[in-house]
Amino acid sequence: MTKIIETRDLSYSYGDGTQAIKGINISLDQGKKVALVGPNGAGKSTLMLMMNGILRPNSGEVLFLGKPLRYDAASLRSIRRAVGMVFQNSDDQLFAPTVYQDVAFGPINLGFPSEKVKRYVGFALQYVGLCGYERRPPHHLSGGEKKRVAIAGILAMEPEVMILDEPTSNLDPASSEEIMEMLDELNHGGKTLIISTHDVELAYRWADEVILMKDGEVVRRGTAQDVFGDVDLIRDARLKLPLVVDIYHELIGRGIARVSKPPRNILELCDLLQHKSGDGAQASGKIYICDVDQVHECEIRTLIDRDSVSFIGGMGTAAKALSERCNISLDFTYGVIDKCILKALTGKSALIMTSGGMVDHALHRIQDYCRESGAEIETCSLSRESDWREC
Ligand code: ADP
Repeated sequence: MTKIIETRDLSYSYGDGTQAIKGINISLDQGKKVALVGPNGAGKSTLMLMMNGILRPNSGEVLFLGKPLRYDAASLRSIRRAVGMVFQNSDDQLFAPTVYQDVAFGPINLGFPSEKVKRYVGFALQYVGLCGYERRPPHHLSGGEKKRVAIAGILAMEPEVMILDEPTSNLDPASSEEIMEMLDELNHGGKTLIISTHDVELAYRWADEVILMKDGEVVRRGTAQDVFGDVDLIRDARLKLPLVVDIYHELIGRGIARVSKPPRNILELCDLLQHKSGDGAQASGKIYICDVDQVHECEIRTLIDRDSVSFIGGMGTAAKALSERCNISLDFTYGVIDKCILKALTGKSALIMTSGGMVDHALHRIQDYCRESGAEIETCSLSRESDWREC
């Protein structure tokens, strides 16, 4: 696997002598979702600021695709294009009088011709679901909308890596979920994503890799289950255990569960309990997967109105836009695949509306789940009009 960002013996002290980063060695794989987790002051933001050259290390080095970062103006421009950074506070990032000008700032600075700027800004705003917001002043927008504008500003420069410092801080639960779901979509499109957070629930369910930091050092890295499965380590870092991990340890302590790894989500927790109770699963409902870019809205309406679907989930900006346009109310907007599997396991049928690479991702996730759990869930994929394919 290609190493996209590496650090070697990286250290950084601020001007007042605070040593924020102490000899960090990490390497991050291309295409992964990585969460830097740790309490306030652990050094997460400082490390991120060094990954795209905003801060220059006192010692050690950062490598991008195997090459050490250089700090002359041209090299910095190029690394900041390749590794885009979304700040914790959107007001630190948004400064232009209109949304369009804000998103266009990066591409204009990179010297893109005006046609290309227009195209990239249009694409980025569409991606984050803010078409029609071009003339609005960013400071009049909600917190979630500001975050989307900040993300669009980075997207418009076509980065390979996106770094987001505490992407959900100060957002309400629905906005947080929308942002995290957008990040999933970007990752399915091939982007490497690095977030920092002290929200353990978010990191646990989202990250392919967790890097736990404390006092300027990396104390553990691994899968979310490896890192959060270590109760002492998490407590020592002054963090909470994710709820499913807490329940898992309780079940282990009472002798109710004996599996060696904590469940990753509610679906796995329910499976563990059902397996333990020996109850056979009831007949499963069906899951429909619909590619909203390819299927006419009437087809989707027909399916829903026929009342064969009890729950509807929307994954990605295109699905959300269609649901708004057609007045289709979504029951699930985050964790959609697992929630639909949970419903199918209780005999209900569900529709997943999505697009692009996430269609196959949804199908594979359901098939993998069925293979691992032994459950039988009928899945139907609709990718062209009148073409339901039994999978
Ligand atoms: P985190 O993102 O994990 O909360 P930070 O990287 O912001 O951690 O901070 C790491 C350490 O560096 C903390 O001790 C913090 O007080 C210190 N620090 C951060 N920014 C500055 C600054 N501009 N000047 C001096 N110290 C700073």
